[in-house]
Amino acid sequence: MSQSSDDIFIDSSTSNDYFTFSSSSPKSIISMKCGQELAHDALCSSLCPTKSASFSISENGDSDRNKHGIRKPSVLDEKALREDDTVLVRDQRIETISRSYQVILESIGEDPLRQGLLKTPKRAAEALVFFTKGYEQTIRDVVSDAVFDEECENMVVVKEIDIYSLCEHHMVPFFGKVSVGYLPNKRVLGLSKIARICEVFSRRLQVQERLTRQIAEAIAEAIQPRGVAVIVECLHMCMVMRGAQKVNSRTTTSAMLGVFREDPKSREEFLSLGRITPF
Ligand SMILES: [Zn+2]
Repeated sequence: MSQSSDDIFIDSSTSNDYFTFSSSSPKSIISMKCGQELAHDALCSSLCPTKSASFSISENGDSDRNKHGIRKPSVLDEKALREDDTVLVRDQRIETISRSYQVILESIGEDPLRQGLLKTPKRAAEALVFFTKGYEQTIRDVVSDAVFDEECENMVVVKEIDIYSLCEHHMVPFFGKVSVGYLPNKRVLGLSKIARICEVFSRRLQVQERLTRQIAEAIAEAIQPRGVAVIVECLHMCMVMRGAQKVNSRTTTSAMLGVFREDPKSREEFLSLGRITPF
């Protein structure tokens, strides 16, 4: 095999260096519009693969087994971490996080009792719970009642869906846009549900590579299309405000499943239809 279909490519456009290495994720292309340090950052995050099983849609549409024939955990069966939160549990959660923020304020040298900061721990706690509300939702909740039988064979593209997430390494925001395309196989998904799927996964602690893959896998599992393509372009505040401090560097990741993986024409059609304009 000249090239594993599971390789990740990192294209550092300023250095023209290409790094190729094996990963357990679906075929992904990561291009970094910035210097060497950022390519290194991306390498580090990609070299710590997430616990997912490798996965592809085979010709017969059997998407629930990985290439070793092992049944992978179903995205649709996944239980959200805060799925069963009651009002009481939620209040306790906010109370606990508020106390933690108070300690953080003291630890950075601030006076949590000065007027401007009195309500900050509670406000920050409520904001954090909101930023991570994807833990309260499951993909099954989102897609139920929105899968329709339809003889449509043409590519469906929903482009430039806004996402706001928190990087799991620094808990600071990364945000940007997602374009999703799929080739239906007698079933379509309600269009707004594609945006909802992006929202559920992005409102959790994330790395962009995993977010991209999860969106693709969720759509693949929900409607078993002939192929799914996802491209995500984000600005990471952990790169902008610290470390490399590359203000305009955006990170692009993509996941191609099924036909999009095998057929360059379909892939190119998607990349042109779903192109993300600079933001
Ligand atoms: Zn980060």
